[in-house]
Amino acid sequence: IKEEPMEQPIADTVSFGSSSASSKRTLFVPIAPMLSRGRGRPPLPLPLPQRHTKPATQITNLQRRQQVKLLQEQEPFRMVPCQQPNCRAEFQTIKISQHFQQYHKDQWLTYVKKCEDNNCDFRSDQAQDIQRHMLMVHNSKYVQWKETFGCLRFKLPKDTKCPFCDKEVILMNLSHFVSHMDAYHKRLCAYEVPLLKCAAHNCTFQAARCFELFTHWLESSGCSVGLKFDYEIARKVKNADLTAQKNEMLQQKIASKSKT
Ligand SMILES: [Zn+2]
Ligand SMILES: [Zn+2]
Ligand SMILES: [Zn+2]
Ligand SMILES: [Zn+2]
Repeated sequence: IKEEPMEQPIADTVSFGSSSASSKRTLFVPIAPMLSRGRGRPPLPLPLPQRHTKPATQITNLQRRQQVKLLQEQEPFRMVPCQQPNCRAEFQTIKISQHFQQYHKDQWLTYVKKCEDNNCDFRSDQAQDIQRHMLMVHNSKYVQWKETFGCLRFKLPKDTKCPFCDKEVILMNLSHFVSHMDAYHKRLCAYEVPLLKCAAHNCTFQAARCFELFTHWLESSGCSVGLKFDYEIARKVKNADLTAQKNEMLQQKIASKSKT
């Protein structure tokens, strides 16, 4: 008789104490969510900083991402409930970052890794995607641009202002823009709006991400003078996001009220 393997609790259970059967305890460690498909049972939360062990210690974003990665590798199609207080969605573990990009924008960056190139804003939760991207975009031609003194592709026009800051913040170059977005405009990183314009004369190419411009430049040798921002689009997305943020906060309030 072939035994069906037992529904193992995945890597989220850890044995504590001695290994004798009586004292063997498992604790739920914030790695994986429990299955919540059973009817009538409220969905258990996804991994979050939890109460036991060291209560005051929150897991870092890096730890969080590693946990999600592990979960995705082990059970990519497992349905998990969203842990956010204002959200009842369920999704496959492989789609966690997509869900956060769309519905919990302020946390999206936690779930994705950025391409290591300092001028680049390609992000994914899949290591293979980043590898493929590296090969395609940061090829020998790209490296050559980087090594060329006076290459304009990674520069910004003099006194270029951040398209999102209320105060006047001058961005020095593309890598400054990328790191500035990461640090100060996390939510806005989640939007994909054609904010970036190829600065070449007569070129109408616009893109949401720097890496899309790199691809465009690799294909269009005439475009070699960098990019500029579309401030009108920036203004629109910023306003739209303020509204979205207000709605999220409102829903969160309603959710927390209905709990009590
Ligand atoms: Zn959610
Ligand atoms: Zn890149
Ligand atoms: Zn800014
Ligand atoms: Zn162009």
